[in-house]
Amino acid sequence: MPERGLLIVLSGPSGVGKGTVRKAIFDSEETDFEYSVSMTTRGMREGEVEGVDYFFRTRDEFEALIDAGQMLEHAQYVGNYYGTPLEYVNQTLDTGKDVFLEIEVQGAMKVKEKVPNGVFIFLTPPDLAELKSRIVGRGTDELAVIEERMEVAKAEIEMMSHYDYAVVNDQVELAVERIKHIIKSEHLRVDRV
Ligand code: 5GP
Repeated sequence: MPERGLLIVLSGPSGVGKGTVRKAIFDSEETDFEYSVSMTTRGMREGEVEGVDYFFRTRDEFEALIDAGQMLEHAQYVGNYYGTPLEYVNQTLDTGKDVFLEIEVQGAMKVKEKVPNGVFIFLTPPDLAELKSRIVGRGTDELAVIEERMEVAKAEIEMMSHYDYAVVNDQVELAVERIKHIIKSEHLRVDRV
């Protein structure tokens, strides 16, 4: 039996460019991990392909799969379900290959509960990383007076602390390289060999 693959989870705040970075990773050469195609109840967008971009399902179909325990995680996002089918992930990990998920934050936290030895990568916008160092540098007192945008950013930064890595998405190609480096390094960890 080969050693189990790694479960790699790319997540981060809405609008940070997770989908773009994920597509760039899988369009690039020398990617030796597998993308887990998600399931969703949202409508198909122009250019999307069933089974490539998503498995498009009705709410009833999706809920039946949840009830049957066939989703690794699922979340509702802007009124639609999104989730990761469990069987593909398990089968692929069992063959020794790594599996890559690109999912929103609630779902990533559920995966973390179930698969604590996964690799959790938080994609951040450049201004969020900058904001974090400013907040950390300034202490907490002044935080009471910051406006709503800052509150949202803070909540996102708090989420970041649940992850193993933060990758700044300043340029897509750079973010892709950083993520590939993380995955290579994870395979060299002493506690994994
Ligand atoms: P979109 O509708 O723009 O393709 O995706 C909306 C959001 O759903 C994105 O943040 C994307 O990362 C997230 N998403 C895609 N697939 C999954 C999934 O399987 N599970 C969860 N929890 N979120 C997902």
